[in-house]
Amino acid sequence: MRAIGKLLGGVVAFGLMLQGYAQAATAEQIGKAAAIDGARIIAAEEEPGNWLAHGRTYSEQRFSPLDQITSDNVPELGLAWHLDLGTDRGIEATPIVVDGIMFFSGPWSVVWAVDARSGEEIWFYDPEVPKEWGQKACCDVVNRGVAVWNGRVYVGTIDGRLIAIDARTGNEVWDVNTIDRSRPYTITGAPRVVKGKVLIGNGGAELGVRGYVSAYDAETGKLSWRFYTVPGDPSKPFENPELETAAKTWSGGEWWKIGGGGTVWDSMAYDPDLDLLYVGVGNGSPWARHRRSPGGGDNLFLSSILALRPDTGKLVWHYQTTPGDNWDYTATQHMILADLELYGETRKVLMQAPKNGFFYVLDRSTGELLSADKYVLANWASHVDLSTGRPVETGAGDYSTENKVVYPSPAGGHNWPPMSYSPQTGLVYIPAMDFPGLYGPEEDFVYRPGFWNTASALHLTRDAPPDDLKGRLIAWDPVRGKARWKVEHWGHWNSGLLSTAGNLVFQGTGDGFFRAFRADTGEELWNAPAQTGVVGSPVTYLVDGQQYVSVLAGWGGVGTIYGRAAKAAGVKHIGRLLTFKAGATGALPPMAAEADLPTPPAFEGTMEEVAAGEDLFHRNCGTCHGFAAVGGGMIPDLRHAQAEIFANWQEIVRGGMLKDRGMASFDKWVSAEDAEKIKTYVIYRAHEGDIPGVGIEE
Ligand code: CA
Repeated sequence: MRAIGKLLGGVVAFGLMLQGYAQAATAEQIGKAAAIDGARIIAAEEEPGNWLAHGRTYSEQRFSPLDQITSDNVPELGLAWHLDLGTDRGIEATPIVVDGIMFFSGPWSVVWAVDARSGEEIWFYDPEVPKEWGQKACCDVVNRGVAVWNGRVYVGTIDGRLIAIDARTGNEVWDVNTIDRSRPYTITGAPRVVKGKVLIGNGGAELGVRGYVSAYDAETGKLSWRFYTVPGDPSKPFENPELETAAKTWSGGEWWKIGGGGTVWDSMAYDPDLDLLYVGVGNGSPWARHRRSPGGGDNLFLSSILALRPDTGKLVWHYQTTPGDNWDYTATQHMILADLELYGETRKVLMQAPKNGFFYVLDRSTGELLSADKYVLANWASHVDLSTGRPVETGAGDYSTENKVVYPSPAGGHNWPPMSYSPQTGLVYIPAMDFPGLYGPEEDFVYRPGFWNTASALHLTRDAPPDDLKGRLIAWDPVRGKARWKVEHWGHWNSGLLSTAGNLVFQGTGDGFFRAFRADTGEELWNAPAQTGVVGSPVTYLVDGQQYVSVLAGWGGVGTIYGRAAKAAGVKHIGRLLTFKAGATGALPPMAAEADLPTPPAFEGTMEEVAAGEDLFHRNCGTCHGFAAVGGGMIPDLRHAQAEIFANWQEIVRGGMLKDRGMASFDKWVSAEDAEKIKTYVIYRAHEGDIPGVGIEE
């Protein structure tokens, strides 16, 4: 017995030793993995098994040279592991994967480090965002990713901070405020790091802010430079000479009081040879140009691509995709740098499919427009004049005096989900959307600080025509300016894209699947259930010589505002990380049974109150709780709220009772009387079908 005891003791001691060794090795391994710098990202092709930066490389092509998984053997892919994240809010991030460690962000700007082999959590970091800040987020409290650099992980938070985390421990190193906290700024985009500077923008142009991009010293967190994208109050000095020029393109109105817009909320790319940093600039604030700049003008630098010097923030060139933006046509969509054979010569190009429906190819040295072709239906402009570089408007998008149905919608022909460019096929893969939006003159528009201020009658949108919200995967030939093939998806809101040297394109879809297509033909070769809508962006990597494919799944984001379509997809709200490899046989747990919907309270109001409540609902509630009160999933569908929600209605809407769950108090915007009218409308809608006036049950 003593011998056995001794042996057991030995085993225990050995076990403890092993555990201690494993922890030390892990910290050392993480430290080594996170030792990413510019030279390493520039030489990313030398370590194809790692995904070192948001778009894998500074060119943001999102193409992986890995070729173990191919169009021949992709049916052998199975679930290696999955990690449930304990959230039901939207998940949009691209993971960074390096030397077997995966870093990624989630809703409310939280960050995980996990073992890329097993999904085992190494650390979790929560920046403890005040949840009521969620009211300022136009499009859910999502986060699109982290940057890893010199042993640290960087994340921007929904409440406007930039945070450096020690990659080995998950402990905070520094935390800096990047915004005017009296304004409704939010950060959802992934930081990029170039030449030791962490670059970060922000969002908020739907509510009313002035856009800019900032560079912070990666080591210290000190602000290095800031480039404002639109001119500020003309009675104050311009921050730089470019803004003095830009101010001449704004006329009349008092845009600076609302902010003007031009937020840099997502895309960036970097060319180390040209030493140019490219940033995409967002829409006007307010949207309606006849309100924002009533005297006309292009309103630089709204909806533009800017080329900046990363050391100084000095502007080198700009190209404006939508002069005088009127429709939320941001140019913040993903930009890809590549070398293309055009007219017999190799051109260094930048490619973007912004919201406005045109696919642009620019010379990235100079900003010269090389081509612009429609990739989805667009009726606001007939074409882009290549001699002037300007779109030719048709007038179909002029809603200054009457309502107009305009293609594309404010969600765009393409939103933030990243594209991918395969140098093998020469094709750009676009996660496209094809449906119109209804815009109209908001005659009684008044600026409400800190609230939605589009001046384009969003409350009318419940009557918008699209029940048929199309989404598709387009393989775009950027040389010929046309689609090579297209795959129609079940719904409009789908994930970003990954292409690989295995002749594959991976995409998750809103109907709850992760799919693989042949990169050259679009044939679907494989899919796996996610049990939830997939809107994150897939990556692929090697560990121990084996290729894995990973994607963050979880329904939410701007596409789910279009509640009817989201509901029709029937997806669940499960935040999870899914990782696949050849020969794996893992399975997801069985789905939980559907809970019965609660019986709504009896309808006791008048139709006058319903009509007033409908208008109030769409002015105050619809952008989160869904148009026509059909919840899109990221935020509760109020028609199916439990009895205690209706019982505590005033306390929730005006008292801030649920602020810690993201429901801020609306007492500044909604009177007690109006809150009751909204409640009456919601209860009325709870007795109707999903489409107003159709399928009334009682
Ligand atoms: Ca916008």
